[in-house]
Amino acid sequence: MESLFGDTYEPQDEKSRLFADVILPVPIPKMFTYKIPRSLSEDIGIGYRVMVQFGQKKVLTGIIGKVHQKPPKEYEAKPILDVLDTYAMVNPLQIKFWAWMAEYYCCHIGEVMNAALPSGLKLSSESKIQLNPAYDSETSMYPLDDREEVILQALASREELSYEDCEQLLGIKTIHGIIKSLVIKEAIIVFEKVKDKYTPKVETRIRLRKEYAEDKKALESLFQVLDSKPKQEEVLLKYLQEIPVYQNPELNTKGLDKKAFSEAGLSMSSIKTLIKNNVLEEYKLIISRFEEIEESDEKIILSDEQMLAMQEIKEAFEDKQVTLLHGITGSGKTEIYIQLIKEALESGSQILLLLPEIALTTHIVGRLRKVFGSKMGVYHSKYSDNERVEVWNGVISGKFSFVVGVRSSIFLPFDSLGLVIVDEEHEASFKQYDPAPRFQARDAAIMLAWLHQAKTILGSATPSFESYYNARTKKYGYVQLDRRYGEAQLPEYFLSDILVDKKKNLLKLDFTRLMREKIQEALNKQEQVLIFQNRRGYAPYISCEDCGWIPECEHCDVSLTYHQFGEEMRCHYCGFKEKVPKICPACGSGKLAAVGLGTERIEENISLLFPEARVARMDLDTTRSKYGYQRLLEEFGAGNIDILVGTQMITKGLDFEKVTVVGILDADRILYFPDFRAGERAFQQITQVAGRAGRREKRGTVVIQSRKPDHYIFEKVIQGDYKNFYVQDMTERQKFFYPPFVKLVKISTRQKDYKTAEKAARHLHNLLNDIQVKKIMLGPEKGLIGKIKNQYIFESLVKLDKSGNAQAVFKHDLQLILEEMYANKEFRSVRVVVDVDPY
Ligand code: ADP
Ligand code: ZN
Ligand code: ZN
Repeated sequence: MESLFGDTYEPQDEKSRLFADVILPVPIPKMFTYKIPRSLSEDIGIGYRVMVQFGQKKVLTGIIGKVHQKPPKEYEAKPILDVLDTYAMVNPLQIKFWAWMAEYYCCHIGEVMNAALPSGLKLSSESKIQLNPAYDSETSMYPLDDREEVILQALASREELSYEDCEQLLGIKTIHGIIKSLVIKEAIIVFEKVKDKYTPKVETRIRLRKEYAEDKKALESLFQVLDSKPKQEEVLLKYLQEIPVYQNPELNTKGLDKKAFSEAGLSMSSIKTLIKNNVLEEYKLIISRFEEIEESDEKIILSDEQMLAMQEIKEAFEDKQVTLLHGITGSGKTEIYIQLIKEALESGSQILLLLPEIALTTHIVGRLRKVFGSKMGVYHSKYSDNERVEVWNGVISGKFSFVVGVRSSIFLPFDSLGLVIVDEEHEASFKQYDPAPRFQARDAAIMLAWLHQAKTILGSATPSFESYYNARTKKYGYVQLDRRYGEAQLPEYFLSDILVDKKKNLLKLDFTRLMREKIQEALNKQEQVLIFQNRRGYAPYISCEDCGWIPECEHCDVSLTYHQFGEEMRCHYCGFKEKVPKICPACGSGKLAAVGLGTERIEENISLLFPEARVARMDLDTTRSKYGYQRLLEEFGAGNIDILVGTQMITKGLDFEKVTVVGILDADRILYFPDFRAGERAFQQITQVAGRAGRREKRGTVVIQSRKPDHYIFEKVIQGDYKNFYVQDMTERQKFFYPPFVKLVKISTRQKDYKTAEKAARHLHNLLNDIQVKKIMLGPEKGLIGKIKNQYIFESLVKLDKSGNAQAVFKHDLQLILEEMYANKEFRSVRVVVDVDPY
């Protein structure tokens, strides 16, 4: 019986009482429940932006994450103050994705929201004051002082004042006390005014008035009238020339951009007169910030290898969600993507192609643009806020079904993804280090695709070892392309021993003889050269100038980092440290030196060695501006640069016909990085940069300078033997418990006072150690950079068992421990940063 009445038992009134959990931009790990006032219940739902009161005084804008009927237990829910949208800015799948991200990366959903929304969509609210209508200065019990008087006088003539206005009025910076006092005296009211930061781009357009546009006779007689006014006539003729309304009156609706007249040198005052005389009219049109570009209908003809790979990808997708496309540099992965994207578009689903930051301005985007025109949205971190909001809205409206973007594009409001492609999936820059959420965009993209039940392709010439591991263990599909497209051959490698040249006095300005010869040969043939110098190797290490010995940690498979302070060398992973030795333990030489060489000096040296060559440098410093990177590439592509020196930036996706020589100046510096990934990254970087050479008919040349040319990694790179290198490296990782065999979580504590920072780190470390899961803990030890912005940093590294629920339990307990830490007076000022999958 009960079920019969179950549905109607609650009185109608009660049932329609709704609550909303709102995601707020505050560092608290949960959503907050608010009442939905009946007046708003019709036009509110998940993903709407709302204004709510938070705490006593604050008004915040947040996003509704959930609508339900359960009132909160611990507090009386306050009502939502206002709804700011007429449609949802964020869809339910996105909210699910945010919630996953917050949980997986141990951060707050508000932080994820902050990262997800382009700042143009974040509303800022500003506190303002207005006169209290109930206030009467005659009868008020409280006298006002001079400053308060000034403010009230100003409010007599202006409806509202911002805090800034008050500061200016009084000429002081601290007005909060005065405002508070005025509130207590009931003279003013403080309120929040919300500002939308996005401003659409508006064009002023000119068109004929209807009377003339639709009536040829009227227009003809108008010209007779204007016979004596040549300047106005000129304007009108220009208009009719651009917009032939005679042939098609419809064209008049859109009119002509006002700028077209001034650009043609026509008189602006004549336009004004024509508007005044009701011949022309002016109106505003909201336009896109992105140019309209036609897509081409060129047919792509895939090679046999590419066709086969396509087919294999499709087969893999029959029972796998993710497929790794392992295709050597120049094998033509892009064309395969294009084909798959086309098919997905035809089936009506959305597509996201994720690229590393720097690759976004290169050939691949140009290539895609040609095929997809302005149907393709581009989401770049160098875009302005307004441009990003337009891409966001374009995804919602369906204008952009296909987006190519950097890591933050995983947050776009997709609602029906069918295909996600992560190109250069091994790229370290997919990881966001700071601030939270500290996510890995490739991993997050896989999760995103899973939420949409979409397929994922990970593409790379040198896959990350994790992805390759997943492919080998059959979690992912695996498709290989091991031939370059067309006639192009892989380059020829030369190893050049720095120390040998040094002994024979052949090393000039850090360039070996072989390197100089190969560069000279290219220059003689008007070919181009790329010189690569790794920038990650900021951390200096010690090396013997005579035998090339490099100190390594006794307990870990990494090189020791040189710390100038105290002349010591440290292991970043286990904390092992020792003094820099006086003599080399390998050969007895006394010539031990810290190694390091920047791009700027290399550029200088090249100019000295090859005075006739045109040299340019590409690194963070030379590409800061919005188009800096693109401009350099254009110059290089146009042949205005002979030698380009650069950091990792030059390794990514460049496809220049005339590059025949690639030089790697200090390969050891890539190799000896204090990181368990050093080997993997070295293999990737050398292969990638080498892949820029000889991409057409001419075979390329790669020269690698090293102090240890017999290191096995070079042999593997030269043979293109990714697989055996992987196998060897995996054995080490398994032995020393590194990913993919464990899950890493790095926890750092930061505080201004050294002792407090250290104490907090110890305390936290011990608490974490007590969590009952299978794990190994390292630390706490001083960070690689022990102090940033006057904050001392200590780090603990946790290696979690991957089986069972170790991760879930650990993350759950970690949350409780952190709450306890923050509640503890002694450690309240300590900042704790949790980084899941930190490397
Ligand atoms: P990858 O991304 O695998 O390094 P690309 O996609 O850049 O390789 O392709 C390498 C070169 O070969 C490019 O210049 C590309 O235009 C060309 N190419 C690849 N496939 C085709 C094809 N099917 N038809 C014409 N050109 C192709
Ligand atoms: Zn030595
Ligand atoms: Zn160590």
